[in-house]
Order: sequence, then structure tokens, then C-alpha cells
Amino acid sequence: MESIITLSNVSKSYQLQQVVKNLSLIIPEGSLYGFLGPNGAGKTTTMRILIGLIEADNGEIFLKGKNIKEWNKSLFNHVGCFIDTPSYYPNLTAYENLAYIQKITNKPLSEVNRVLKITGIFHVKDKKVKNFSMGMKQRLGLAFAMLNDPDILILDEPTNGLDPEGIHEIRNFLINLCKNEGKTIFVSSHNLAEIEMMADYIALINQGELIYDGKLDDILISKEYIVKVKQTEEVIQMLTSRGLEITRLRDGKISFKTDQNKIAFINKQMTEKNVDVYELTPRKRTLEEMFLDLTKKDNPKKVVGLYE
Ligand code: ADP
Repeated sequence: MESIITLSNVSKSYQLQQVVKNLSLIIPEGSLYGFLGPNGAGKTTTMRILIGLIEADNGEIFLKGKNIKEWNKSLFNHVGCFIDTPSYYPNLTAYENLAYIQKITNKPLSEVNRVLKITGIFHVKDKKVKNFSMGMKQRLGLAFAMLNDPDILILDEPTNGLDPEGIHEIRNFLINLCKNEGKTIFVSSHNLAEIEMMADYIALINQGELIYDGKLDDILISKEYIVKVKQTEEVIQMLTSRGLEITRLRDGKISFKTDQNKIAFINKQMTEKNVDVYELTPRKRTLEEMFLDLTKKDNPKKVVGLYE
């Protein structure tokens, strides 16, 4: 996949504090890219820089191959964003708030009903925004981002303050936009589990610094396998006699560490010994496990407060 957004050595300081440190990221076109980090890690600042709301002290950003400094306002024909709590006119209805933006930017009003429908707030379009629940306001924020059908969405913690049902709906909404409509979505969160359920790629930052980036699947697959067999004792003995480390034994499943190239051999041996094999699969780590690994005491790049 081609890169649609590239950050190259981006840094930003406020007074003496460097809040984004030499950050380089490649966001592939059509990906759902999770931008993870604890509160205060520098996610919002990075996103603000990305859309030209504030300027970086150093580094370059390219959007569709063109430096964002050359984009000016035309950037927003391609990028929809939801950063910070969007400000609305509380005494206007949802429809009026969206229509107002379309009018001042000279864009078609027909867009308003379209975005109200896809974000699931069409039925409350005539309600004043001051009477909106948190969830409805978040959806209205997404509706603003979706106006004029941009192909890139930059969303800062869009599920903040939502109940589990709202989170679930927004997540499915984003997955659908990415998979079925080919949008590129760069979405930040401090919630590991949420990102794990939707992202193709992730980047983790802490105190302004990149700790990890890559394909979610690559990151989660460890060199650990799980085998489920009838003859547990026999297989444990077989594995340990080969010097393999058993990492877990639970519900009749044996977890052990090995390389992929040894798996076929182990499987063959079990068959030769007439072992009944019900399951043999790589063990996927959760993001949480991965982060715990990254934050072990001997790891200098400690992630502070990710679960706060
Ligand atoms: P996140 O979005 O990951 O929670 P932010 O980008 O909002 O992190 O903040 C990163 C750090 O930068 C925090 O320590 C925050 O206090 C600081 N910061 C953000 N904006 C400003 C600003 N306008 N002036 C001074 N410090 C700021």
C-alpha cells in the first residue's frame, strides 16, 4: 500500500517541554491506523500539526506526496478532522450547525442530510445541540468530519465519553468506512483494547516519542504456539526433551515457544506417535501483553500511565 501521510522527524516544544520528539510515521492509503499513547503523550499535538493547525518546530509532513505547507486550505477537500471537542452553536440544531459550515464554505447543502444519516443522528437533526447527549455530540463531530466526503479522516479520541454501546457503534462505523469505502482513518486513543479491535496498523507514542509502529498482526503474533491434544503428558515430555520452553498449560492446551520452521516437524512427530491433535496455532498476544513487554523494567522506553 502507498503512503498517504508521511511524517518525517517531526518535533514540537512548548516552552521548555518537548512534547513531540523526532516523530516519523508512514500511514498507508486505505488503512485504519491507530495512534496510541497515554494521556499527555503528544497525540493531539501531532494531529494538530498534521492538519496545519499548529506548526512543527522541525520536520516535514507530506500528504498525498505533497508537503502540507503547500496545501493551504485545499487540504480540507481531502481531510476531515475531529480534533478536541468540536465547538457548536448550542442554540442551533444539528442540521443548522452543519448547514452553516456548508454555507460559509460554499459547499452543497445536500451533504448535510447525507452525513446526518451516516452518523446515525438524522432523527435528531432538528434538535438543538445544547440538548444533545455526549454520544450525539460525538456523532455530530464525526458528521462535521465527514462533510464533503473526504478520503482521509483524522480523529482524535472519537469515542471519548461514550458508553460501551456507543463505542461499539463508532468502531463499526469506522471499520465500515475504511473497508467498504476505502477511506484512510488515522484515529487516536488511549484505550488499547479498542484499537486492537479495529486497527490494521498502530503507532504507540509515549512522552512524545515513538515506541512502536507497524502492522497490528505482525506485532501481535509472537513466537509462541498453542497445541491442544489428548495425550498432554506425552506431548509435554516430547517438547521439553527438545529443549522447548512450556509457557502455559491451561484447559488442556499447551503453550510453548518455538520458531515457525520447527512447527511442521513437531506436528509430524505428534502424528507419528499417534497423538490426537485438536489444535495447533500461533498464540496471538494482546496489545496489552505487548505493551507490558515494552514496559518491562529493563526497557528504557517506559510507557507511563497507559491505563489511566
Ligand atoms: P495527548 O493528546 O496524547 O493527550 P497532547 O498532545 O494533548 O497529548 O499533550 C502533550 C503535552 O503537551 C502535554 O504535556 C500537554 O500538557 C502539553 N501541551 C499541549 N498543548 C499545549 C499548549 N498549547 N501549551 C503548552 N503545553 C501544551
